This record gives sequence, C-alpha cells and structure tokens, in this order.
Amino acid sequence: MRIIVSGGAGFIGSHMCDRLLSEGHTVVVLDNLLTGSTENLAHLGSTKAFQFIEHDVTLPLEGKIPGGPIDGVLHMASAASPKDYLEHPIETLDVGSVGTRNMLELARASKARFLVTSTSECYGDPHVHPQVETYWGNVNPVGPRSCYDESKRFAEAMTMAYHRTHGVRTNIARIFNTYGPKMQLNDGRVVPAFLDQALRGEPLTVFGDGSQTRSFCYVSDLVDGLYRLMMSDERYPVNLGNPAEMTILHFAEQIIALTKSPSQIVRRPLPEDDPRQRKPDISKAKRILGWEPVVALEQGLKVTAEYFRKKVPAPT
Ligand code: NAD
Ligand code: UDP
Repeated sequence: MRIIVSGGAGFIGSHMCDRLLSEGHTVVVLDNLLTGSTENLAHLGSTKAFQFIEHDVTLPLEGKIPGGPIDGVLHMASAASPKDYLEHPIETLDVGSVGTRNMLELARASKARFLVTSTSECYGDPHVHPQVETYWGNVNPVGPRSCYDESKRFAEAMTMAYHRTHGVRTNIARIFNTYGPKMQLNDGRVVPAFLDQALRGEPLTVFGDGSQTRSFCYVSDLVDGLYRLMMSDERYPVNLGNPAEMTILHFAEQIIALTKSPSQIVRRPLPEDDPRQRKPDISKAKRILGWEPVVALEQGLKVTAEYFRKKVPAPT
C-alpha cells in the first residue's frame, strides 16, 4: 500500500514509518516539524519507498503529494505533550479539527483507509476505572487541557461522520501514555523528564503528592496495535495501552533505581486538571485485534534510558 502519514516526523509517527516500511509499504510523511524532527527519519533517507514533505496539514494539500494511488492515510499529526499543547493551544485545536478534516477528505477522495491517533485524554479525569471505550469521559471543556482533549474528541466525531456519510473505512485508536526512544528530551512528559533528571543526578520533579496513576506502554507494542487496528474492520474507538498501572511517585522511585541515580525526589505543584488515574481496559483490543503489550516496563525503560544517556551529559 502507499500510505500517507501525517505527523510522521514525531516520536510515534517515526516508529510507525519504520514498521510500515518493514511490512513492504510505501510511505509519504507530511509534517510541519512543530514538535517533530527530521532527525527521527534521517536513517530512512529519501527513496522510492519513503518520502518526507514539510507541510502543515491544516493548510490546503493541492499539489503537495506527488501523483499515484493513495491506499491509506494515518493522521498522527498533533502536539501531544502537555507542555507542547499548552504552548500551542490554537495550533492543537486546528490540527485536530481542520487538519483531521483535510486528512479525511484526502482519504475520501483517494478511496483510502483512514486511521486517527486519538487519546486517553478523551476520558478526561475519569470516573470509570479502568477506562473502557464505552465510557464517554469527564473532560473540562474550558480548562487548559481542553485544547488537546476537545480537539481529539472533535477528531473522533469528524472521523465517524466521514464513515457514516461517505463510507470511508476509518479506525480510531485511543492511545494511552506511550514512551520509548525518539521522545524529545525536553517535551515535559514524565518519562523523558524523569530520565533526564535521573541521568543528570538532579532531583526528580514529582507533581502533587505523586499519588496520581498512569500506565506506560512501550512504543513497539503501541505501533503493533496501531498496525493491527489499521488492518481491522473495527470502526469504533479502540484503547491501545499497557494496563500495568502505577503511581507517579512509585514510577520516580523505579527510574532512580533503574538508572542507579543519586537523585532525590522533590515535589512541585500539580498542574490544573491533571487526571487522577489512568489505566486502559484493553479487552476490546485483545478480542478483536489479538493484541496485548509484550514489553515489560523495566525492559522498555532500559532501552529508553540508553537512548537518552547518549543525549544527556553525565553528572559532574
Ligand atoms: P510528537 O509531538 O512527537 O509528534 C507529533 C508530530 O505531529 C510532530 O512531528 C509534529 O511536528 C507534527 N505536527 C503537529 N502539528 C502538525 C501540523 N499542523 N501539520 C503537520 N504536522 C504536524 O507526538 P507523539 O507522542 O508522537 O504523538 C503522535 C500522535 O499520537 C498524536 O496524534 C498524539 O495526540 C497521539 N498520542 C500520543 C500519546 C503518547 O503517549 N505519545 C498518547 C496519546 C495520543
Ligand atoms: N509529571 C510529574 N513530573 C514531571 C512531569 C509529569 O510528576 O516532571 C506527572 C504529571 O503531573 C502526570 C503524569 O506525570 O500526572 C504524566 O504526565 P505526562 O505529561 O507524561 O502525560 P499526561 O498523562 O499527563 O498527558
């Protein structure tokens, strides 16, 4: 298949490109490099099978993609870390709304399949635990995180509307916290933040009392889930994530132990609307995709720490 990947220069997008190419597909990336980097794709060069086009998907596409059939559109473009989307709230709303519409239009016009990478943020600060796809969520529509949460909820609604109205073959992935090499060291997300601090021997900044929970999925597991979902006939959202849940305080302690760091833990204020708990119910993905994560947290963190070790100066 010839597949267009928006956001392919980002963390998950670049891993997805590797996977698509290894399955024999041809890939064209559209990315405006807002939070991604061509460094993530440098190993792929520019070949018949792979092409990078610098483009903002909220703008018209006319003439941007060289001719030829388009069989799939993976819409992964969006700032994803709280630091990034709080710095770019309007761009984030635009890419989830106008950007999603443009990518869906491309899929419709090309008779291509379409997948959008939505998020566990659709559940907001959830009252149902673990989160199951049929839960409609508890999102503050006017809080600081709403630019991301509502943009993704809109993207899901637009995707279903294109499926129902135009019969586009769509998929919606609700991704839970994912980590691995190629995350940006300074994007503020907890995995790069804690690893950076631990490797520098600086204090790990736990927000609030650290009792909030998250569940971390290694990127190769996530990409495998996305690939299976893209090939499936499921039209409604599917959770993809690792259900191994832990408190952020425990996670900080684990990072210190894993990196054998002398770092201490310090407390910082809890950001507004930070979800109290998050754990995916992945029964649906298990049932319909035969998917579940296989990489243990310690194993994935080791690989990720090695990646960051090369980027972080050792403590003096
Ligand atoms: P990332 O920031 O590393 O990648 C996003 C990419 O989108 C970047 O390369 C960025 O430059 C590009 N982009 C942003 N706006 C664009 C625009 N208007 N036009 C073209 N390109 C644009 O983030 P990521 O962690 O790789 O996330 C990828 C996708 O997965 C996002 O849609 C995100 O919402 C979703 N997701 C990620 C996680 C996670 O834990 N990493 C969790 C839930 C959902
Ligand atoms: N967090 C933290 N210290 C940091 C960065 C994040 O304690 O330096 C917490 C944050 O408050 C949240 C969790 O870690 O409860 C996960 O944050 P992240 O930004 O990675 O993603 P989120 O799940 O909030 O989108």
